[in-house]
Amino acid sequence: MREYTGVTVSEGLVMGPVRRIDRGVSGLGRLIHDRSKERALFDAAVVLAKDELRSLMEQADGEERDILRFQLVMLDDQALLTEIGNYIAAGAGSAAATERAGQIFARRIRDLPDEYLCQRGADVLDACSRVVEILDGKPRQKLVLDQPMILAAESILPSDIISIDRGMVLGIVTSKGSAQSHAAIVARTMGIPALIQLGEEFLSHCDGHQAVLDAREGRLILDPDTALQKEVLLKREAMARKKARLAGLREKPCVTLDGTRLFLQANCSEPGGIEQAVAEGAEGIGLLRTEFLLMKGSIPDEEEQYYFYRSCLAAAQGRPVTVRTFDVGADKLVEGLMLPEKNPALGLRGVRFCLDRTDLFQDQLCALLRASTQGPMEIMFPMVGGVLDFRLAMDEVEKAKENLRMRGQPFDEDLKFGCMIEVPSAVICAPELAQAGAAFFSIGTNDLIQYTHAVDRMDSRLDRYYKADSLAIQRMIAMTVKAAKEAGIPVCVCGRAAANPQTAPLYAKLGVNILSMASQSLLDIKEVLLNTDLQEVVSRV
Ligand code: PEP
Ligand code: MG
Repeated sequence: MREYTGVTVSEGLVMGPVRRIDRGVSGLGRLIHDRSKERALFDAAVVLAKDELRSLMEQADGEERDILRFQLVMLDDQALLTEIGNYIAAGAGSAAATERAGQIFARRIRDLPDEYLCQRGADVLDACSRVVEILDGKPRQKLVLDQPMILAAESILPSDIISIDRGMVLGIVTSKGSAQSHAAIVARTMGIPALIQLGEEFLSHCDGHQAVLDAREGRLILDPDTALQKEVLLKREAMARKKARLAGLREKPCVTLDGTRLFLQANCSEPGGIEQAVAEGAEGIGLLRTEFLLMKGSIPDEEEQYYFYRSCLAAAQGRPVTVRTFDVGADKLVEGLMLPEKNPALGLRGVRFCLDRTDLFQDQLCALLRASTQGPMEIMFPMVGGVLDFRLAMDEVEKAKENLRMRGQPFDEDLKFGCMIEVPSAVICAPELAQAGAAFFSIGTNDLIQYTHAVDRMDSRLDRYYKADSLAIQRMIAMTVKAAKEAGIPVCVCGRAAANPQTAPLYAKLGVNILSMASQSLLDIKEVLLNTDLQEVVSRV
């Protein structure tokens, strides 16, 4: 047995043979024609590659579709096409020119300071290798697996996963790779256990060996002995029993033993995630994060956003969707959009940024208002510090409504607007926020804990100061709930603590009505709450 440790990007426990994907070396024996013929070959290959991508897109949805669309866009990118054209004009063969320009382009993208964007380097390589394989006369090889396997590679390209029969992939492991990569995102959305950064040594030994991939504990064991194999089988059986048991809870309303009805909703950022949340029994989307729209390299205009929000509402199939307006700033930096700050967590973030960039805010509000006719929706502002922030944000809403009225575009006149409660000053002024018209509160404990305890949420050394159940946080929640009750409005918690089996019942005890969390946690938390008597939960306030 040989054990390797890595970083989990998608949880699960599987066992089976490992197959190493090796893209090999291409280019041997390539004939180079004259420049105009090479150029014509290249142009034709791009047309074929785009056709392939389009037909893959028809079978894909959600995040996979976005990835394929990005690759399609790359094959139209003038800068990339010019670079390839320049190599061909200088005498290189079209396949070699595409490989070379693709690598340089991918490296350039990877070097960008934006972590999201730099992952798109893999998509550039993926799109270019599709063209190269067509030029090399080996139409895109679809990975054909004759039995379920754990795939291993230095790093996996998104289309590797998208094009494989899901039933044949037990898991994915890479020697390098990043948790933010698209392949990692695809693995997560497809529910394939995945582990990254297992190292070079692992890659050279893994091919053809049996392995246990324990992507709950970040371990991969090559050549497991019989005792370990037995243990894994038992654990998998127990996990399957738990999954089947929890599946039975999907449609069940979440009512605690003492009769308190709670609403369990999901945190999402795109339509694919919403579909998954609905399948996991989410009663709505308590937090739709929108700032990722700004992190894709270009700022989407009103029209593009309108279609995005409509798609999100369609994916929610009539369940309520609470959209959070752009929450950039702090660790969510958008290159070219914001100035460096000495103390970004205390800087121009959340609604403060939107009130500074009202041009972007107006586009978002108009798009959201227009989409509001398409399904139940609410809007909330992040990082509201007090009544003035809420009033100024609502002034912007009025401007957007006026604009739409002038354009003759309909919107839901009764659309509700609420506040995220993430800063102690918002808790203290919660009664006034409700009086100012906030129709609901959504407590963002991730930030509320950070700002209440003055502890950087990004710094794991400070974990012992970062307490979701401290007396101070319990009081913060109780104060918010009291103000909400007096005003007759609901309170949600949408920070990570909502998915914690200890804090979820505690927050319910404190009077929170809705808990919104990652969809994978919904059924676990529902099970906990169904078996909880809130009268027996001890709060300190
Ligand atoms: C929060 O602060 O709890 C929250 C949900 O927002 P984010 O984690 O995106 O800052
Ligand atoms: Mg927050």
